[in-house]
Amino acid sequence: MTDYTTFEHDVLVIGAGGAGLRAAIEASAAGVSVGLICKSLLGKAHTVMAEGGMAAAMGNVDDRDNWRVHFSDTMRGGQYVNNWRMAELHAKEAPERVRELEAWGAVFDRTKDGKILQRNFGGHRYPRLAHVGDRTGLELIRTLQDHGIHQGIDVHMEVTVISLLKDGDRVVGVLAYEREHGRFRVFKAKAVVLATGGVGRAFKITSNSWEGTGDGHALAYHAGAELIDMEFIQFHPTGMVWPPSVRGILVTEGVRGEGGILTNSEGKRFMFDDIPPLYKDQTASDPEEGWRYTQGDKTANRPPELLTRDHVARCINREVKAGRGSPHGGVYLDIAWIKEKLPNAAEHIKKKLPSMYHQFMQLANLDITTTPMEVGPTTHYIMGGIRVDADTQASTLPGLYACGECASGINGANRLGGNSLSDLIVFGKRAGEYAAQFAQQNGHGSIDNGQIERETKRALEPFDREGGDNPFVVQHDLQDMMQAKVGIVRVEEEMQEALAGLRGLKDRAEKCSVTGNIDYNPGWHTALDLRNLLTVSEAITRSAIERKESRGGQFREDYPNKEPEFAKFNIAVKEVNGEMQISHVPLPEMPAELKAVIEEMG
Ligand code: FAD
Repeated sequence: MTDYTTFEHDVLVIGAGGAGLRAAIEASAAGVSVGLICKSLLGKAHTVMAEGGMAAAMGNVDDRDNWRVHFSDTMRGGQYVNNWRMAELHAKEAPERVRELEAWGAVFDRTKDGKILQRNFGGHRYPRLAHVGDRTGLELIRTLQDHGIHQGIDVHMEVTVISLLKDGDRVVGVLAYEREHGRFRVFKAKAVVLATGGVGRAFKITSNSWEGTGDGHALAYHAGAELIDMEFIQFHPTGMVWPPSVRGILVTEGVRGEGGILTNSEGKRFMFDDIPPLYKDQTASDPEEGWRYTQGDKTANRPPELLTRDHVARCINREVKAGRGSPHGGVYLDIAWIKEKLPNAAEHIKKKLPSMYHQFMQLANLDITTTPMEVGPTTHYIMGGIRVDADTQASTLPGLYACGECASGINGANRLGGNSLSDLIVFGKRAGEYAAQFAQQNGHGSIDNGQIERETKRALEPFDREGGDNPFVVQHDLQDMMQAKVGIVRVEEEMQEALAGLRGLKDRAEKCSVTGNIDYNPGWHTALDLRNLLTVSEAITRSAIERKESRGGQFREDYPNKEPEFAKFNIAVKEVNGEMQISHVPLPEMPAELKAVIEEMG
């Protein structure tokens, strides 16, 4: 029998980013006991890295903004395969959630008349992103932590969940290990909320930290839950490309929101070649000054650099492939040019983009107030994830809820920048509320000791093997392959090769070995992460093969057009007898009043 310590909570939240913290706060406010687990230290989640802001139609900068415009922007960004109910709830509830953060102590940037300041971002019709310079995620986490700390939540830091425990179909707890000493812990819970973030580490070039290994996606999948939309990966157009050690680190869209322009090696502002006809104002006298929506509001001037992320990323890719890139394989992002318009431009840039200024100074020895940056696409966000009910965030398994980046639905084929932070607080709250309700209505399930034995044995196997692959090498090979074959531009043949490659990598992962002892052993931790990375990589590849069209975050060179047939369903994957099974989940009919909103917005 393996040794383990047992803990018991009514609601157990896995992940202490914005979504997990918000869920834990809400569940605790409902009067149930709450445990919160995170695999690093509290406060070190991905959310802390978020820079640009959170989208909420408060209309503080442009009073024409409201939930209807936000809803229709989100649906357009998602190319109409979003869960419309989630997009509706998000647009309606985000302003209240942002004001709630303010009441809990968040210090947002201000308009001259003292309201929360909002900035422009890609795909949002009006300035909509509430922000704190370029450190919005840090302020979000700080506020939620400060508030949550007084709610009696039990926090388990540096604890990694490796399995969901089940009683029949119901999820009744989790198995985890402590990073420091490798000891196992069993958590019994009446309801479990997954809030584990994204999957960026499945790719070579990514803005995600070491934590983004798709754990929640894989845990839910192996417990029998459905994942949807896994083919939709957001490649953010602007990551650092130089020096090599920092490749992929994000350069916030806030740079373009503050006036940054993209140019190629010929000095051309190439995004002007790519404004879709829907947006182009044929009557604009000076195209260099901006462009306008021809449908709807004619006065909204927007630079073409703020078209949706998938579009801008592909344009950059095209410039580089055509030999018009920068020396290190990117293009130029220039914010320094605003000095032509603004006398105190350098101070303005340092004030509005302090992290970007320091990031380039310290990592690339480059002053962004005087010199253009070199940037290129980086794997940033996954739209796909655990299939949930829009109102309650319940997964397809009883007792299991999901929110934040590991859940799916709101973003459809592509997420608008800023919609994630607001998603975390809107749906984190809902997940916490409904998980608490489930816990109040159901007792603890029974824990299957056989499952614990099997899972702990599987976890320890890498120590028993000798001569297998080093897990870091397997991880590296996986990232290389996913980047090359299932990246920003996809074709059937390469993705079939990736599937075959995944089978080989899975075999190597199952035989990999680690040395040293169980106390803080990063090789062992990586060996355990591999299963998750391989699961999400297979889900991404199979779903991308199944979607024979290009839409949002999926661009297929062999099927470059959008096909109406594929707008009717989401692609789902589920584990059946140990194999990944694909199915189509029909999109429910949108109610007439929401259709009318979309038509009204053009
Ligand atoms: P995370 O914040 O990623 O937190 C995940 C949590 O789960 C962590 O606590 C982690 O330790 C824990 N965890 C994971 N696996 C396990 C496990 N097995 N066991 C225990 N715990 C586990 N979005 C915006 O809207 N606006 C922005 O300006 C913006 N900027 C961004 C900038 C960067 C550099 C990045 C990377 C993303 C940005 N995003 C932005 C996206 C947004 O930050 C993320 O989508 C969001 O923060 C995800 O939050 P989350 O709560 O779902 O997960």
